[in-house]
Amino acid sequence: MSSSSSSIPTSEVPEAEMAARAQALVSGFHSVMRRISAVASPDRSVRLVAVSKRKPASDIQALYNATKHTHYGENYSQELFEKAPVLPSDIQWHFIGTLQTNKCKQLASSIPNLWAVESLDASKKADALNKGRAALLEKNPDAQKLRVFIQVNTSGEESKSGCEPSDTLELAKHIIEKCPHLTLQGFMTIGDIARSKESEVPNEDFILLSKTRDEIAKSLGRETNTLELSMGMSEDYEQGIKLGATNVRVGTSIFGARPQKEDAAAKKDVQTPMP
Ligand SMILES: *Cc1c(COP(=O)(O)O)cnc(C)c1O
Repeated sequence: MSSSSSSIPTSEVPEAEMAARAQALVSGFHSVMRRISAVASPDRSVRLVAVSKRKPASDIQALYNATKHTHYGENYSQELFEKAPVLPSDIQWHFIGTLQTNKCKQLASSIPNLWAVESLDASKKADALNKGRAALLEKNPDAQKLRVFIQVNTSGEESKSGCEPSDTLELAKHIIEKCPHLTLQGFMTIGDIARSKESEVPNEDFILLSKTRDEIAKSLGRETNTLELSMGMSEDYEQGIKLGATNVRVGTSIFGARPQKEDAAAKKDVQTPMP
């Protein structure tokens, strides 16, 4: 039995609490899976990426143990560097956050089970990822090429990262021609959530991403269905699927609300005196 005088770490969570947490995660996961099957067409499979950012590794381990689900998404490279080595090696990680050039090489080389980077938006970053994956493949010839999705800024908001739709073909060609250790898997958008909430009109971001993919497939002489669409989060993944998504990224509906990062930033602003 643990007591305050024992050496048991204080972070140890009681078993009943852990079981209850696992139960909640599994139930959230199955409810999302059911809603996905309800809208997906039988001829197109949809991959669920469970977005675990700012959630503990123990949550991922619990969900993995109970469901054998392997696709998880992370937004912060530091968090991924910490979680990947302590979790099962058959997890298929997706990096979905803002991609910094100086983190690309390490992401691609040090995490063999990084399955995809979904937020690629510049050729310089593609080169760095390619170099990192080359280093990994040299050590470990059984490792896979790194899949990449080009993140497209479909909403034109300056605050959103992503490649401009008109620059996307050039980046796609760069990946195919200059980056032999990467595979162009498809396109990703975050989009403007407000557009998904206007239930009368289909989300323009999702339509633009799909149109961009179709045009690029045509220019590259590839079948449309060889290039995926990653679109839809907790609030709008059903809409994403209706508009052609093959990959959805869902966090809150599985793991619950996250602590607001903005809170810390807002506090800091208040404490910083004006010059
Ligand atoms: C956080 C995040 C998600 C998941 O968002 P939820 O609303 O929690 O489902 C999906 N995609 C990206 C790029 C994210 O940053």
